[in-house]
Amino acid sequence: MRYQRPKGTADILPDEAKKWTYVEETARMLFNDYRYQEIRTPMFENFDVFSRTSGDTSDIVTKEMYDFKDKGDRHMSLRPEGTAGVVRAFVENKLYGPEHPRPIKVFYMGSMFRYERPQSGRQREFHQIGVEAFGSNEPELDVEVMAMGMDLLSHFGLSGLKLTINSLGDQASRAAYRQALIDYLDPHFDELSEDSKVRLHKNPLRVLDSKDKHDQEIVKGAPSILDYLNEDSKKHFDQVKHLLDALKIPYVIDPDMVRGLDYYTHTIFEIMVDSKALGEGYTTICAGGRYNGLVEQLGGPEMPGIGFGLGMERLMVLMEAQKVKFPVLDQLDAYVVGIGEQTSLETLQIVQSLRSDGFAADRDYLDRKPKAQFKTANKLNAQFTITIGESELKAKTANVKSMASGKEVTVPISEILQDFDTVLTKYFNDKEID
Ligand code: ATP
Ligand code: MG
Repeated sequence: MRYQRPKGTADILPDEAKKWTYVEETARMLFNDYRYQEIRTPMFENFDVFSRTSGDTSDIVTKEMYDFKDKGDRHMSLRPEGTAGVVRAFVENKLYGPEHPRPIKVFYMGSMFRYERPQSGRQREFHQIGVEAFGSNEPELDVEVMAMGMDLLSHFGLSGLKLTINSLGDQASRAAYRQALIDYLDPHFDELSEDSKVRLHKNPLRVLDSKDKHDQEIVKGAPSILDYLNEDSKKHFDQVKHLLDALKIPYVIDPDMVRGLDYYTHTIFEIMVDSKALGEGYTTICAGGRYNGLVEQLGGPEMPGIGFGLGMERLMVLMEAQKVKFPVLDQLDAYVVGIGEQTSLETLQIVQSLRSDGFAADRDYLDRKPKAQFKTANKLNAQFTITIGESELKAKTANVKSMASGKEVTVPISEILQDFDTVLTKYFNDKEID
């Protein structure tokens, strides 16, 4: 029997994982600058947490959810997205309480699960980096969240990003629009795809999001939601645009964009990029928006929220395609070469001592000849080699060599064990110490 990973999942091997770490660490630093703190929630939740919030007609609930009954007959689901679980945690732990200064700003990173047809940048287990901010309805916060998404992606040196925005307005605006949309779509009912027929009366906005080509043709003539925004909603959206302009963040308005989840209100946005590596045309890598009713829906007080989710896999495909340089994070400071079996104890002591001084150090564990050990040191790009042969062992010294300059010095082993930092500054210059 040969075992294979489940369809739509990926093994992230060490060379690739290094890049992931770099992306995640960069995101952590940036989120810290914006004062967002990490939150970690369970990978599975009660099915209802997602079905209630995403909407019965959403792709997620109708087709994509990994749900199951556990041994206690509870209906559970692997999380298909991050927001619902974060909001559930927010409510359950009463983060809306007066002791938490508002807005409450959090971020998360982790696996999400959707039963989809796997392709480039689309998997069944995938990873998102996401943020949520609760407790402010100010357009300034909408703009902060969008700016942060753009900032993060530009930090990685990506080019050709396009920020697309729209507004779904508040509940009243949406209700007015909903009726107008039904009135427009009803005469086309017979031409619509099966999915859209079902959605037309349950959730007509979703028809705008249809991936069916013919549906998309029909949708082109539909009324625009922007014409149905009431005064407050219009004011909010105008201010968002004004602030984006003021921050010189370019954007385009797409009045047909609705997003796949039911809980959005007011500003919604997607950051897209046109890259062949992810298929024809523009692909969304980061998406989000305001969800002013969601906290209440999950049993909390009335409290506005806004956030985004960014797909790690798509980001990695894009960075690869745009040949973004990843900094080397795994520098090997020293490789300790032992010549002859009797040096094994000393080399082990030195390696351990270097590590406890904060240096990345390694040695041979396969009893290999000196030549093979030096070759490894070279291959691993070690900054220094520390060599002990028979004569060094007798003299209780080691040969320390800078691989950059070729300079070699003989140093008492005791000095190395004492503090390798001191050895470096005593015998080598700045250029040799990276
Ligand atoms: P799409 O229209 O491409 O299916 P979506 O609207 O379902 O996207 P969201 O729920 O908004 O996606 O998720 C936000 C981001 O998460 C997406 O922009 C994408 O980068 C990523 N994402 C979503 N589904 C997947 C998946 N199956 N595999 C990899 N990344 C995904
Ligand atoms: Mg989807």
